[in-house]
Amino acid sequence: MATLSLQHIDKIYDNNVQAVFDFNLDVKDGELIVLVGPSGCGKSTTLRMVAGLEDISAGRLYLDGKDITQTPAKDRDMAMVFQNYALYGHMTVYENMAFSLTMRKENPNVIHKKVLAAAEILGLTNQLNKKPAQLSGGQRQRVAMGRSIVRNPKVFLFDEPLSNLDAKLRGATRREILLLHKQLQATMLYVTHDQTEALTLADRIVCMSMGYVQQVGTPLELYDSPANIFVAGFIGLPPMNFYDVTVGPDGLTGEGFKVTLTAEEADTLQAYHGKTIVLGVRPEDIVLGPDVPVTVSTNENLGMNTLVHGHIGQTSGARISAKLKGWADYKNGDTVTFSFKRKHFFDKETTNAIRKGV
Ligand code: ADP
Repeated sequence: MATLSLQHIDKIYDNNVQAVFDFNLDVKDGELIVLVGPSGCGKSTTLRMVAGLEDISAGRLYLDGKDITQTPAKDRDMAMVFQNYALYGHMTVYENMAFSLTMRKENPNVIHKKVLAAAEILGLTNQLNKKPAQLSGGQRQRVAMGRSIVRNPKVFLFDEPLSNLDAKLRGATRREILLLHKQLQATMLYVTHDQTEALTLADRIVCMSMGYVQQVGTPLELYDSPANIFVAGFIGLPPMNFYDVTVGPDGLTGEGFKVTLTAEEADTLQAYHGKTIVLGVRPEDIVLGPDVPVTVSTNENLGMNTLVHGHIGQTSGARISAKLKGWADYKNGDTVTFSFKRKHFFDKETTNAIRKGV
């Protein structure tokens, strides 16, 4: 059983750079939390503060209700898996996995059992006598995870564990981490800059930008109801399209296009009549239709879908990316018209989502 509570946590580095501002999160027992955001937004700093590898400048950290803000890393009962594996090259897989237990002078029979059990979970049973150099990148990452599992920590911390793997292996290892999480039912904190990893792995995502938490929620909540323009643009690939539009009595007018509103959308935008807001449209919510004239620049076939990139109106117009169902063969310079199946609205000043009744 392991719950974590981060309360009003700040990090100010010695050079006065504030990397994390007022971070608050309650992690439930067995939950897999993914911290996601662009490089430099404070994800690793947050993870390292939880691990005890960085001091917490302000705020409190609780593990199972116990204040561990000042507890040294070695006494926190957490295990961290890094992107660069940090395996010992001269030791076998077995010795690498057993290392921390050997150092603790555990009973060799207990060590043996734990290593074999972890190897079984990770599919490494036949690799135990090999040296890291004889393994693939994916296998090395599994050994690094095995080293954590044998310690049976209260919390697993992952710092971009897949970023050194190629795309195919990343997908496979991601699924292994999911399975591992199911099997161990352990509390996990996972840092990545990759929104796909966040969407596919997380029970809940914490999306960060410039040291601030932007939104905490399930993957579907962040995808479906992003709290602001940052989250809307960061979660989802290709990213959401954004346009300045004026709210009128019969719809939204943007540069070179006009779209009507459903009764419900009009209701949501009641307070914004005559004002400029930001309209967000996901590429996958764009269909062929009568509303938005587009000049095509590129056409990318993905098999099941086609990504059509272009500009609204002439080539000088705002960029638009649409993900159409099926195969299409538009050429540079072709014209096509689109409609927006689903729209997201944001306040231009605050950048926050405009929701009904808010
Ligand atoms: P992320 O993991 O999201 O890429 P980091 O947590 O590594 O971001 O960094 C957040 C901010 O803190 C960045 O501006 C980075 O330059 C700064 N930073 C990270 N480590 C240190 C350090 N040891 N000393 C000073 N500033 C640091």
